[in-house]
Amino acid sequence: MIDSTLPAPATTSLPPSRVMYRALTRRDPAYEGVFFAGVKTTGIFCRPTCRAKKPRAENVEFFPSASAALHDGYRPCRMCRPMDRVQPPPPVVARLLRLVEEDPTLRLTDKELRALAIDPSTARRQFRRYYGLTFQAYQRARRLGLALREVRAGRPVIDVQLEGGYESASGFREAFQRVFGKPPRGARADDCLLARRIDTPLGRMLALADGQGLRLLEFVDRRGLENEILRLRRRLHCAVVPGTNAALAAAEDQMRRYFAGEQLTFDLPLAPVGSPFQRQVWTALRRIAPGATRSYGQIAAEVGRPGAQRAVGRANGSNTLAIVVPCHRVIGSDGSLSGYGGGVWRKQRLLDHERAHAVQSTADSH
Ligand SMILES: [Zn+2]
Repeated sequence: MIDSTLPAPATTSLPPSRVMYRALTRRDPAYEGVFFAGVKTTGIFCRPTCRAKKPRAENVEFFPSASAALHDGYRPCRMCRPMDRVQPPPPVVARLLRLVEEDPTLRLTDKELRALAIDPSTARRQFRRYYGLTFQAYQRARRLGLALREVRAGRPVIDVQLEGGYESASGFREAFQRVFGKPPRGARADDCLLARRIDTPLGRMLALADGQGLRLLEFVDRRGLENEILRLRRRLHCAVVPGTNAALAAAEDQMRRYFAGEQLTFDLPLAPVGSPFQRQVWTALRRIAPGATRSYGQIAAEVGRPGAQRAVGRANGSNTLAIVVPCHRVIGSDGSLSGYGGGVWRKQRLLDHERAHAVQSTADSH
C-alpha cells in the first residue's frame, strides 16, 4: 500500500514509444506532462508540443519526468522550456538557470551568488517554488547527469558522442572528471574503480566495483552521492573509470531478477568501505529476510550495543550498497518509514515489492 502523501514519480508508466513518438510529431497537447522527449543528437529535452523541428524516431528517448531527463544528461530546451510552468519564471530564477548552463559542472556557492548581486536565500526559495526542485538538486542533476553520460553500460561513450555530433562532447569528459576524478597517467583499469549504470524500475543506479567486489550501488539522484564517491576515491586512492567486471555484471543481472520478483536475495562479492562498527551493522542488515523489517533498536541489540539506536541509524544511513545491503528494511519502532537516502517513496516501493514477492515464494514452496 502506498501512502498517497508520498511523491511517487511514475517511473514505469510511460505510454508505448510509438504512441509517444506520434504525439511528439503531432505536437499533441494531450501529452503535456505525460512524457518528455530527449533528443540524442543534441542533448536537449523538450515538451511534446515543442515547436522545434522533430527528430527522427531513432534519435529520441522518452522520460516520465524532467528530473529523469536531467539525470540522463539532457538540458532543457530553450524554445519549449520543459521545466517551466505556465507562468514565465521570475527573473532571478531564469538567471540561475542561465548561470548553470554556462558551466553545468560547477557548483555555484552562496558566496558566488552574492558576488553576482543575487540574494541566495531569495533565489533558492523562488527556484524551489517555481520548479518544485531545489537549486542544489538541479545543479546536482545536471552535473551528475553529464558525468553519467560517460558511463553507458560500463563503456565510455566518447565514440558515440563523436558520431552523434553531440553539442558538448567535451563537456562529458569534464563533468565526468569533476565527479569521478582523473586517473593518473598510465593507470591500469585494475587500479581504478569501474563504473556501470544499472537501470531499474525505480530509476537509474550507479554501481562501482574493483577487484575486491562491489563498493557502491546507489540511485543516481540520491543526495550525498557525490560525497560518497569522493570518500571512496580518497580511501582507496583511486579514480573511477567507465568499465565492467564480473561483480558489476553479476550485480546488474541480480538486480534485474530482484525487480522481476524472481530472486530477492543477492549473492555478490561485497566490499563496502566503513568502520568496524558500520560493517557490523551492515552485516546485521543482511540478515533481515526480504519481506521482514526491524527497528533501529532491534539492530542495536543484535550488534551488542543495546540502546545505541542513533549510532545504528547513522551507520544505516551511511550504507553505500542500496538494496543489496537492505537498509530500507529498518524502520521506526512505531512502524513509521523514517528516512531513506534514495527517497522515502522508494523505501515504500521496495518494502511493498518484497512483501508481495516474499509471500509468493513462501507459498510456492509449500
Ligand atoms: Zn523544445
